[in-house]
Amino acid sequence: MPETLQKIFSRNPNEPEFHQAIEKFCSSLKTVLLKHPKYTKHCIFERLTEPDRIIIFRVPWIDDHGALQINRGYRVQFNNALGPYKGGLRFHPSVNLSILKFLAFEQIFKNALTTVNLGGGKGGSDFNPKGKTNNEVMIFCQSFMNELSRHIGQNTDIPAGDIGVGGREIGYMFGQYKKIRNEFTGVLTGKGSGWGGSILRPEATGYGLIYFSQYMLETIGENIEGKICLVSGAGNVAQYAIEKLIELNAKVITFSDSTGYIYDEDGIDEEKLKFIVRLKNVDKGYVVDYAGKFRNAVFTPIIPNQKSNPLWDHKANYAFPSATQNEVNQIDAENLVRNGIKLLAEGSNMSCTTEAINILLDAGVLYGPGKASNAGGVAVSGLEMSQNSSYMSWTREEVNSKLKNIMKNIHDTSLMHAEMYGAKGRYMDGANIAGFIKVADAMIDQGVV
Ligand code: GLU
Repeated sequence: MPETLQKIFSRNPNEPEFHQAIEKFCSSLKTVLLKHPKYTKHCIFERLTEPDRIIIFRVPWIDDHGALQINRGYRVQFNNALGPYKGGLRFHPSVNLSILKFLAFEQIFKNALTTVNLGGGKGGSDFNPKGKTNNEVMIFCQSFMNELSRHIGQNTDIPAGDIGVGGREIGYMFGQYKKIRNEFTGVLTGKGSGWGGSILRPEATGYGLIYFSQYMLETIGENIEGKICLVSGAGNVAQYAIEKLIELNAKVITFSDSTGYIYDEDGIDEEKLKFIVRLKNVDKGYVVDYAGKFRNAVFTPIIPNQKSNPLWDHKANYAFPSATQNEVNQIDAENLVRNGIKLLAEGSNMSCTTEAINILLDAGVLYGPGKASNAGGVAVSGLEMSQNSSYMSWTREEVNSKLKNIMKNIHDTSLMHAEMYGAKGRYMDGANIAGFIKVADAMIDQGVV
């Protein structure tokens, strides 16, 4: 395997996040590959790490001052053994091929775990929606869709949101797709609930994360009520994770954005959460304003190149990183362990570095990997697709109970596969193994394509 990995790395140079995702995935597979030689015989790992195709395109647009702007657009269609490509679009200045390839690779196995039959993909642009007017965001989305529309479709590839892409952006992209193709189909998920979107899709990733964590905690006879929780991020995932934690009577004492983090020793209540949601979604402001508004809340700015994130250095029971990849490093993990953390479940994709995961696992912390713990979002995207194709809308209760069932299923499948392959209690190994087997078997059935 080390030789295979080296080959993959040198074929994909300068893609550190992609290498990291592959290496971690590969570390879970040793026993599976030994037990089932057919996967090696069919070169499944080599085939799985080579995307089906990657589309890269120019996105020209004109800003409100009449100046021409150029961004780069991407769609990585990684694997469609289980169904049409499915995965979000990320609009953020940090977007590059390495990040999108790691996200698309993770998405293959995340989607496999949801039991909704979907392949894996991811896309986006280095466009920064921050500080742009509504009109500029619309013009950009339309130009982006002018090219993307040639490559997607309800049976081919169904994008959704991710960082920087929410209901507003999905709306503008959907409008442009409809205009170009003259068809009204469920080609994107995360649509407005009045025109094809699923109830509970906005909440699904955050709620699913907490449902998954509840199932993990059940295995050690604990529950969330009354526990102190650290959350990072203040976007879609963090907001709804905090909402669910408040509903379950937990005390959330932190959240953050790109400028810094808030420590609120009194805990976030419903009123304070409303303030955060308004601040981030409507006013497009920064978390520092929360400290000015609520007594005992302290804002700490991010210092460039800081060695660790002080957000993770507070006494607490559970941690839910929900900002972005690699936001918990080795020092952060050491701090979490020293502060008595018993569970860390990833709301963001690949929240932890490999070193951080090893520290958490060695200390006996329950670790929920993103491809399992944050799969609720894409799972409800799958439910949105089912509703679209049957021209039906399900109620909040129906979607919520399906989401809970899916998270339970992902939890149990991950735990069972971990145990079956000698990694008892290690959700990351179990999730990787279960996802791999499902995709690999489908690839073998479908021949060399
Ligand atoms: N971007 C989300 C994820 O990382 C959702 C993808 C989707 O709904 O297609 O899973």
